[in-house]
Amino acid sequence: MSGEPEGGRQGGCLCGAIRYRIRVAPADAAFCHCRICQRSSGAPVLLWASLPEADLEILRGAPEIFASSPEGRRLFCGACGTQLFFRHARWPGQLDLTAASLDDPDAIRPRGHIHVGARRACMEGLAPDLPDFDDEPESFA
Ligand SMILES: [Zn+2]
Ligand SMILES: [Zn+2]
Repeated sequence: MSGEPEGGRQGGCLCGAIRYRIRVAPADAAFCHCRICQRSSGAPVLLWASLPEADLEILRGAPEIFASSPEGRRLFCGACGTQLFFRHARWPGQLDLTAASLDDPDAIRPRGHIHVGARRACMEGLAPDLPDFDDEPESFA
């Protein structure tokens, strides 16, 4: 990884308008197969990594916020559209980030599949050894 004077894990959007740093390694990560992730990204699945919101530092730019459900908020770059973060009222103080927006996406280890009721047929072969959850567990630990 490059450009990390403080030694933290960094990431950002496609155009570079938004850059962020996280102070901890995300504890949990899961493939979310829900329909809202699909429609908001145009992709069949999103890999989210969870961490305390206090451990996120925005280095540059300011994400736009979209209310994708009454309790869900999706944060994205208003210039290039990259979806970066997700917050839900059910998990106060927690933040999810799109693992692929990290400069080193391979640092994230998926622990399971969530909202598998909407899993697309083309994703049936994705990481079949990981556990499936209809909703979202408190933790994968
Ligand atoms: Zn951007
Ligand atoms: Zn989802």
